[in-house]
Amino acid sequence: MVTTHNLGFPRIGRQRELKFALEKYWKGTISAQELLKISSDLRAQHWKDQSMLDWIPVGDFSLYDHVLDTSFMLGNIPVRVSSLPGNEIDNYFRVARGRSVNDHSACSCVNAGEMTKWFDTNYHYIVPEFERNTRFSLNPDHLLQQIQQARQINHQVKPVILGPVTYLWLGKSKDGSDKLNLLDDLLSAYAQLLNELEKVDIQWVQIDEPILAMDLTEAWKHALRKAYYQLQATSINLLLTTYFGQLQDNLQLACELPVNGLHLDAVIAKDEIAKIIDWLPSHKILSLGVINGRNIWKTDLTETLDWLEPIYARLQDRLWLAPSCSLLHVPVDLDSEQKLDQDVQSWLAFAIQKLQEIEVLAKALNQERNSVAEILQENSAAITSRKQSKRVHQAAVKARVLEIKEAMGTRQSPYQQRAIVQRKKFQLPLFPTTTIGSFPQTQQIRQTRRDFREGKLSESEYRQAMQKEIEICVREQEALGLDVLVHGEPERNDMVEYFGEQLAGFAFTQFGWVQSYGSRCVKPPIIYGDVSHPQAITTEWIQYAQSLTNKPMKGMLTGPVTMLNWSFVRDDQPRADTCMQLALAIRDEVLALEKAGIQIIQIDEAALREGLPLRKSQWNTYLDWAIRSFRITANGVKDETQIHTHMCYSEFNDIMEAIARMDADVITIETSRSDMELLDAFDQFHYPNEIGPGVYDIHSPNIPSVDSIIALMEKAAQRIPAERLWVNPDCGLKTRHWEEVKPALRNMIAASRYLSSHLSVAVQASQI
Ligand code: GLN
Ligand code: ZN
Repeated sequence: MVTTHNLGFPRIGRQRELKFALEKYWKGTISAQELLKISSDLRAQHWKDQSMLDWIPVGDFSLYDHVLDTSFMLGNIPVRVSSLPGNEIDNYFRVARGRSVNDHSACSCVNAGEMTKWFDTNYHYIVPEFERNTRFSLNPDHLLQQIQQARQINHQVKPVILGPVTYLWLGKSKDGSDKLNLLDDLLSAYAQLLNELEKVDIQWVQIDEPILAMDLTEAWKHALRKAYYQLQATSINLLLTTYFGQLQDNLQLACELPVNGLHLDAVIAKDEIAKIIDWLPSHKILSLGVINGRNIWKTDLTETLDWLEPIYARLQDRLWLAPSCSLLHVPVDLDSEQKLDQDVQSWLAFAIQKLQEIEVLAKALNQERNSVAEILQENSAAITSRKQSKRVHQAAVKARVLEIKEAMGTRQSPYQQRAIVQRKKFQLPLFPTTTIGSFPQTQQIRQTRRDFREGKLSESEYRQAMQKEIEICVREQEALGLDVLVHGEPERNDMVEYFGEQLAGFAFTQFGWVQSYGSRCVKPPIIYGDVSHPQAITTEWIQYAQSLTNKPMKGMLTGPVTMLNWSFVRDDQPRADTCMQLALAIRDEVLALEKAGIQIIQIDEAALREGLPLRKSQWNTYLDWAIRSFRITANGVKDETQIHTHMCYSEFNDIMEAIARMDADVITIETSRSDMELLDAFDQFHYPNEIGPGVYDIHSPNIPSVDSIIALMEKAAQRIPAERLWVNPDCGLKTRHWEEVKPALRNMIAASRYLSSHLSVAVQASQI
């Protein structure tokens, strides 16, 4: 018989129950007990939702983040927090978000743990902190309680834990010591944990080591060997799981580690499975993640069965089936959707539907295909309908992509010549000031958008209200004295959704929420078909904004790579192809803006860096098509039109050369939090065009002083010639309040003025 299981279930709830409970708790409107009750009800519900499986996961739920939970289970709590008064939940939220509900005044806040992306997903975890003398002490109570709770619902439970080596890998050494020195102590905590689980008769433990899909040095490979040789003392069966990538050079290692089973991402690493079956010792079970846990498409069940049947014939009871990875990365239940187009809906599967697919596959293998004939037929009909749908395939779009000429991605003249034309035209001072696009999204702005969506405002009432907001924003910027203005983006709910809604080929869900971090969720658009641009999207707004001022007004767009990386993307063509369709669509918008008289256009590529593949060997392929897409989008304009781009994560030391290839006239990046350390990269690589290193950390309510901004810019000017520097915040201002934004920008502008009068003299003097 085939065994079915799941690696992890979304925690947030069908209606984002966990989000709302957390936010109420943080506000003080519900108690910790109430929060824990809601969490426990959610877990119970989710276990019921998974009851078609042979094994259900326990320990995958989290109030904020499972890596943070692991830190707490291992007693690895930063000293700055563990020394504070309060109980565990206070400390938990102090590390998660810098304060507990009992920390009333701002001064009692502590630094939250750093947050970063979970592999190549959009989920963020709290980075474990290590020091030379970090010692672990196990506290398994929460996990044990959850096991007990799950058993009451009468299930076979399989605890899910983050593997020790991946846990170390994900953390950060705070004092420069080698994290791997902590392995021995960490392993004794894990051994103790397995011991505790043994005591409560656990049979299988899922132990996640996704770093097996990454480039590993010998030291890390050795750590994995050592870890699993030590942990094999337990009588519990260990199911070692890897996901998100191929094993490649770690394949043999993964097969040989002394565990009882191995789980693989059989979607992304499908080509490796045959080899793994050959390598895997015959006493081990093999769990195949055959259903994609990273996207929302229905699986072609017949095709999957064709592939699985011979594998099952060979492995028999040793075969387990599961989604490729935790379902944390997909929404909960497609059946919640009331407004999706019927065709599109019939092509989709969310977490629950994906588990049903597992159930069907298992039944077809355990009994025979006939036992699920009807379901297979329905599934085939949906797969065929998607393959042939006119909504998906637009011949004209495909033809246009084929006709792309490289010249379309190349500016008329090189930057040095364009810069001369642009300087003459814009007559900007040295150290020109600008912002990244959005201004505070006030209650009123949100309410206006809601009213319009709900039909309470007519189109023209809505337009008037938004024009008023734009006017307020322009007047404020003029009063402050910014050099290049923006319209403030009041009409945009989200930088990807806003454009997606107006392009063909996109669908939007009502409840397709996916956890991004803590209580924050995103609702990624679904790109289901060929993308095109039926009509201009932003020209009217930007033209209106430009009509209010003599200063240059930037047109603001979201770039193709960011649109792609923040959406659920179709799986029936390469990502690069979808990206190129997006590039053409946004290119149309760029050209429409230029035609409408807009002279500066910013194309945000906030998410370009985070799309980098896990394996370095694949970086160049990604960068090649990503940069090409950006160039096609941006570079069809005249020399005198100035192209800006913006990127959020600026740790791009290693991709600087690729970023230079984008050939934007100006790039603005996030650097303020790192005290400009990120600009060290400019020592090695001389970035050729203009750059605005963010000098104001918009993620914090603090107002930067004039002196601190001058100091940051002086650091920047040591590496980049002053005439190519801009002064700007490090991201959009949408989440801030006007009372914070105004003084901060005032200081930013004062710093720019100081710099242009002092530093330019100094720069000239040094050149003599
Ligand atoms: N233009 C966008 C804004 O200002 C950019 C946001 C981002 O980079 N995340 O909001
Ligand atoms: Zn940003």
